[in-house]
Amino acid sequence: MRIILSATLFIFTFLNVAYANEVNLFTSRHYDSDVKLYQKFTAKTGIKVNVVSGKAKALEKRLLSEGKSSKADVYITVDAGALGSAKAKGIFQRINSKTLNSKIPANFRTAHWYGVAKRARIIYYNPKLISASEAKSLNYEDLSNPKYKNSVVIRASSNTYNKSLVASLIANNGSGKTGNWAKGIVSNMARDPKGNDRAQIMAVAAGKAKLAVANSYYIALMLSGKKGPEQQAAAQKVKPVFPNQGNRGTHMNISGGGVVKHAPNKANAIKFLEFLLTKEAQQHIVNNTYEYPMISGVKPNNLIGQFGTSFKQDTKTKVSTYYKNQKKALALMKKAGWK
Ligand code: FE
Repeated sequence: MRIILSATLFIFTFLNVAYANEVNLFTSRHYDSDVKLYQKFTAKTGIKVNVVSGKAKALEKRLLSEGKSSKADVYITVDAGALGSAKAKGIFQRINSKTLNSKIPANFRTAHWYGVAKRARIIYYNPKLISASEAKSLNYEDLSNPKYKNSVVIRASSNTYNKSLVASLIANNGSGKTGNWAKGIVSNMARDPKGNDRAQIMAVAAGKAKLAVANSYYIALMLSGKKGPEQQAAAQKVKPVFPNQGNRGTHMNISGGGVVKHAPNKANAIKFLEFLLTKEAQQHIVNNTYEYPMISGVKPNNLIGQFGTSFKQDTKTKVSTYYKNQKKALALMKKAGWK
């Protein structure tokens, strides 16, 4: 009886492995366009993609509580800080993919998670209030200059994009200087932080502030009209500027992912990540999310590319340092009174 039972179990397990050609994806990206991308992967490889989507913190919590019994193979999220957090909690396993290592520049990957697309956190200005030449010379450090009193809008200190930006300032300028910078930016704020990145761009368009900080793809998203005519018109009234061109370059961040520690379909998970770095997938991503491509040979969508594709990116500050400095960054912003 026992033999029959284990033989049945063996056959069942075997069939399960042989026929369940799938990959289970946990993702905090919630774009309809991503679904089409997964369909391309399935068409190419025959591997079915099962998607579980949710907010990064909720997915992280679920992955942790499921532990060894989790069916998750790949976890994808945005912001190197969020990826670093998942890594620190042991959610990812180390993989070794020559394809990923050769396609992704070293500062945008670790052994556990890999950048899939890039975004810059940049400054937007109202050309009626600030000249182009003044804007073009801006560094992040200038946002604390008293000459910009009542001029700056930026979202809350708890926002992960801000935590990563301030983390990179700590890495480059040290905690002391960055603490003073945070105090300076707080005293320059045109209003208490509120709203998302697009709300900051809207405020500058409306002349409520001269300068806003927001991610690069948001201006393109607004210009596309996908967020409605009001946001489209607002986006036409502001100009983006890539800070720190005269020194280390503009602060970069990523969307990315890794293979989950107990992935039941590890080989498919690696194939899936490698697919995301193909020319076909990169083109699909940049044309739908307006992020910058991770690989060379793919152009960003013109809605963002029109503002320049050859700006100097900060490639010296590893994005893996963001998570390490995020706690310090938040403490320092809170201490400065950054809401
Ligand atoms: Fe975003």
